[in-house]
Amino acid sequence: MLYDILIIGGGPAGLTAATYARRAGRSVLVIEKNAFGGQITWSPKVENFPGFVSVSGTELGDRLLEQAMEQGAEVELDEVVSVAVGADGVKTVACDSGAVFEGRALIVAVGAKPRMLGIDREEALVGNGVCFCAVCDGAFYAGKDVAVNGGGNSALQDALLLSEKCRKVYLIHRRDSFRGEQKLVEALQKRPNVEFVLNASVTELLGGDELTGIKVEQNGAGREIPVAGLFVAIGHAPDNGLFAGLMALDRAGYADAGEDCTTKTPGVFVAGDCRAKSVRQLTTAAADGSVAALAACRYLDA
Ligand code: NAP
Repeated sequence: MLYDILIIGGGPAGLTAATYARRAGRSVLVIEKNAFGGQITWSPKVENFPGFVSVSGTELGDRLLEQAMEQGAEVELDEVVSVAVGADGVKTVACDSGAVFEGRALIVAVGAKPRMLGIDREEALVGNGVCFCAVCDGAFYAGKDVAVNGGGNSALQDALLLSEKCRKVYLIHRRDSFRGEQKLVEALQKRPNVEFVLNASVTELLGGDELTGIKVEQNGAGREIPVAGLFVAIGHAPDNGLFAGLMALDRAGYADAGEDCTTKTPGVFVAGDCRAKSVRQLTTAAADGSVAALAACRYLDA
């Protein structure tokens, strides 16, 4: 089947695009490789999405998916491995399962993936002490001591969530003030089992096959902290490599498209956190999704 619009990525940007495109009467397929809802499914609590005083990230993700499907969007859980644009303008997307899909327009809404610290054995210890998602993995560390590294909203929220189940939470940040919201910092300051380790960087991961502790450099001095888990929450990086031939990428790898979400390839649009922008929020991802979908509809009408 030739879809009007293929959407790669089932986060807030992709699912909002699907809802808008369906409401404009277009056939739509959304392809997501992990979990519909995207990064937001890792947030225990979202309190800054309009219309929701407080909602868990998984619930918000579920609702975005339900809304898109209710409008008639089709969805596939699969990993896209290649994208090609034919001479006739048809976009062909091949997936890891062997499935191949075709669309007249394509919206890339692949978000961003967690950034790593880049220290020895970090990759080897993923799943054995090194984690990127407190919502997903926090329960494994109940009653244990853990560390969170980062100073943005993700790190602050992770630390709050972990402090509810873990014995002790060390919040390690490379500066003496946080980039994340003051309200979250104040909530953490009230938790007796949270220790701020500021002006500090994680330099070494201790233990064999499983993490047993970390070495931290703080104000020029070394310190060992025994922990069973290290939650790395130092932001995200785009994963746009697959689309480098279709859209210009900036030095950091973000799609260099403007607010109109168009790329250099006719009929290919980009939305959400994978696009170069100054504010990466749920609201701006959803906004991009609607802009990209309407731009794709205009392209199909032309
Ligand atoms: P972020 O805001 O970019 O924060 C990343 C943090 O990691 C910064 O404090 C940064 O330090 C630190 N960092 C970066 N590279 C590092 C390195 N190599 N070593 C040590 N520390 C490093 O990322 P985020 O917390 O993932 O949030 C991403 C976006 O999603 C933000 O706009 C955030 O507000 C939003 N968000 C929203 C919610 C919600 O509830 N709505 C929840 C989570 C996230 P510096 O400050 O020194 O640069």
